[in-house]
Amino acid sequence: MGVDCVPVYRMEAPDAAEQAAEVTPAPTMQASPTAARQPAPEPSRVVPREQKAAAPAAQQASAPALAPPAKPAAKRAGTSAEAFTFSPPPRAADEDERAYRTRALASLRARYEEDAPHNQFVTAFTNIVFDDGDPCANLCFVGEAPGAEEDLQGKPFVGRSGELLNKMIVGMGLSRERVYICNVLKTRPPDNATPTTREIDICRPYLLAQLAIVRPKAIVTLGLPAAQALLRSTDTMARLRSNWATLSLRSEGDSPLLIPVMPTYHPAYLLRAFTPENRAKVWSDLCLVLKHLGMPIPTKGSTGANP
Ligand code: URA
Repeated sequence: MGVDCVPVYRMEAPDAAEQAAEVTPAPTMQASPTAARQPAPEPSRVVPREQKAAAPAAQQASAPALAPPAKPAAKRAGTSAEAFTFSPPPRAADEDERAYRTRALASLRARYEEDAPHNQFVTAFTNIVFDDGDPCANLCFVGEAPGAEEDLQGKPFVGRSGELLNKMIVGMGLSRERVYICNVLKTRPPDNATPTTREIDICRPYLLAQLAIVRPKAIVTLGLPAAQALLRSTDTMARLRSNWATLSLRSEGDSPLLIPVMPTYHPAYLLRAFTPENRAKVWSDLCLVLKHLGMPIPTKGSTGANP
């Protein structure tokens, strides 16, 4: 995807640490976002639990050096994301793209399970919720963390928020099988608490590595924590939404992959404040995404987000 495919940007130049931290696809992955601004709450969703612990961890994690693979998990437990390096498996000569990406994601998941970064903050969960959908999708939705139903099923967005997200996807003329869905955190926070900055920093490298494998043409972040994770913005959702930002994923010896990011409200927020105004806002954000993807914009939608 060339730069001229990337629409309106509200980004500042990445600083040196961020430049050094970018995520990469094959063969060695490095991860890092370039961003708009800095964090701030979406109405009623951001309630940091460990904000006081966030500053040092955030500084460390903002420059993840993607380094040599796998020390034993026990030794890595408790370390920050700064030393994260993921090397996707080599591509087989006759392997098709979908098969390769599926294998690369499985390998990343295995790495996540081995590292168990959630051991640094989560007390209990049933299943790791890694992803769902098409590894070759043009469109990726990034949520914040699994809820109760997701934790039970091991799949993202299968509860009430997921029902609404599915409607939004169908309303866009897509299907759940044709998009890729993941979360910033892969384990359910206790009491569905909003992920803290520290938790986001710890999990960000795995998310960026996922996105570097899938290489979508656009990303929709659902809720402020997901926008924060990718954009490191301090803006409110009201200011972020309806504007394109960009995520830069850089691979060694390769030009950066710039992925447009459209922040919008989380379906859970929409469910809580299911007003025609809010639905219209989300729908207009999704229409910007459809336009960017060169897809037709449905005139009348059956989606909960289409007013
Ligand atoms: N909310 C999220 O952010 N992600 C899920 O998977 C479910 C609910």
